[in-house]
Amino acid sequence: MTERRKLPVVLVASRDCGECSACCELEGVDELAKAPLTRCSRQRDGGGCDAYAIRPPACIAFRCLWHHGLLEDDGRPDRLGVMLDGFSLDDQAAGTSKPGILAKEVAPNGFERAESTLRWLVARTGQPILLRRYDGQHFEFNGFGLTPPSVPIVTV
Ligand code: SF4
Ligand code: SF4
Repeated sequence: MTERRKLPVVLVASRDCGECSACCELEGVDELAKAPLTRCSRQRDGGGCDAYAIRPPACIAFRCLWHHGLLEDDGRPDRLGVMLDGFSLDDQAAGTSKPGILAKEVAPNGFERAESTLRWLVARTGQPILLRRYDGQHFEFNGFGLTPPSVPIVTV
């Protein structure tokens, strides 16, 4: 069973969203009744939010893992092709929980654009990455190829 959770890394103050608004489309916002993978009505063309000063708490709180120092400066989601988020793999039977990385495509074929960077990340962390394709399907990337997820996906 999976559940979203942030990885324990530190915010990098110098990293700015700039023209990126990947999370505005990829994430759901309960306060706006906005579903995941739908454009927000407040999104500006070219990036940014039309109601930035009064955006909901969920928008204020959210930072993708690029803001937490994962990857280099050029790994911003709109440039990379995927947005990285944290989640945990919970084995309720065994009572264990393991943090993982979830890559969400920001556009069709985002994975193919980001593949070499994600391969490096798998090697660095020693863990496969969970991938959500732009059409909502999930796969696991072990650094070599895509396979069906080894655990049921419930909340990502
Ligand atoms: S996906 Fe990350 S970099 Fe892009 S707008 Fe959201 S928080 Fe900022
Ligand atoms: S309200 Fe603004 S910050 Fe929140 S999802 Fe919409 S465009 Fe993005």
